[in-house]
Amino acid sequence: MTHHDHQDPRRRLPRVDALLADPAIVAAGRGIHPTLLKAAVQRSLAEARAGRLAPELLVGAVIERLPQHGTTLRRVLNATGVVLHTNLGRAPLHPDAVRALEAAAGYVDVEYAVEDGSRARRGRRTLEALLDRVPAAEDALVVNNGAAALVLAATTLAQGREIVVSRGELVEIGDGFRLTSLLESTGARLREVGTTNRTHLADYRDAIGPETGFILKVHPSNFSVQGFTSAVGVHELSTLGVPVVADIGSGLLEPEPTLPDEPDATTWLRQGATIVTASGDKLLGGPQAGLVLGRAEVVHALRRHPLARAVRVDKLTIAALEATLAAPVTPVLAALRASGETLRRRTEDLHGRLVAARVDAPVVEVSGLVGGGGAPGVPLPGWAVQLPAELAARLRLGRPCVVARIERDRCLVDLRCVDPTDDLLISEAIVAAASARH
Ligand SMILES: *Cc1c(COP(=O)(O)O)cnc(C)c1O
Repeated sequence: MTHHDHQDPRRRLPRVDALLADPAIVAAGRGIHPTLLKAAVQRSLAEARAGRLAPELLVGAVIERLPQHGTTLRRVLNATGVVLHTNLGRAPLHPDAVRALEAAAGYVDVEYAVEDGSRARRGRRTLEALLDRVPAAEDALVVNNGAAALVLAATTLAQGREIVVSRGELVEIGDGFRLTSLLESTGARLREVGTTNRTHLADYRDAIGPETGFILKVHPSNFSVQGFTSAVGVHELSTLGVPVVADIGSGLLEPEPTLPDEPDATTWLRQGATIVTASGDKLLGGPQAGLVLGRAEVVHALRRHPLARAVRVDKLTIAALEATLAAPVTPVLAALRASGETLRRRTEDLHGRLVAARVDAPVVEVSGLVGGGGAPGVPLPGWAVQLPAELAARLRLGRPCVVARIERDRCLVDLRCVDPTDDLLISEAIVAAASARH
């Protein structure tokens, strides 16, 4: 062994059987199949060997990898202050939606009329609930996600034809997926008009012709262009005599006072959009889904297209979406609307509990974010407790897993997206993480 090897902490890694015999791992692994246990140990060791995991965090990492409740998906307390965090599964469901998921898990009448035993329209009561919330829509359709709604619209209305769209609205929706590639994959051609910062009604008018399938209006939900800008509104676009497909992204069904610049389905339909498409798990606060709302004949055409079967939504989504629509305030809206005053009081209470446990965690003013496709640049004033940056990894690997925000080498714990009933769990997690340091 060279001198260098002695210095390398990776050389100090325990063996697989030593880890399997660790009392904490033995305790956490009761009832778990030995193969899964061993796989968790091997994966964690591989991470440590690759230098991505500190050796002293190994045991915690193995325990965190063990499946609970049949899924290895781990519950996360979102202390980032980012309401819609795509990597954390976007919208947390309302408890009623969670109960609805459970109710729908077995056999259900999702596509069946108990009255006479005949086939019924899939998820009809969820569609009715959607139309009750958006009377401006004549009909509605629910598919797998917002991207699927757009693909279905493009395939049905513009395959082999043109989609007229402003260059200022050609967004990348995340993880390298671009709206342009998505739409072109349907066999529609994009007819781009205007420039990044300015597009006028005449640009659209000049581009419209016999090849036009529809005009696409996109709300750029993850960025905003500032300065010398102009875009054409749905109202004007609807005067051009071709269908207008309007992608609001965020899923607001009616205006939300805390986000005055965010479009909503009702307003854009009233302004003349033929159909509006949206996500279910952004500002609507429901399960992953894509909504299509608007003119009956167009929604009908989308529903009848063979592709609709490939983007069909499952019974769990149908159930959770219906419960979400009935909930007075979703967790997403509650987090969005949480007042600075309430957040400050909760953060000070947290600070008090930490001080009592001799953890130094000053209260600082921070700005939260809507995140994940909604209201770019709209700051949400709030509060956080500030911890040393190295606590972030311990909080992530603790039980429960707490994901905090790292900003300028500080670890910030923001309670905006934490259910108030979990505040105590957060302080316990911080105390545990802080004491593990010594
Ligand atoms: C998020 C978003 C999409 C994609 O919706 P998914 O539900 O994530 O598939 C499409 N368009 C816009 C404007 C969006 O914000």
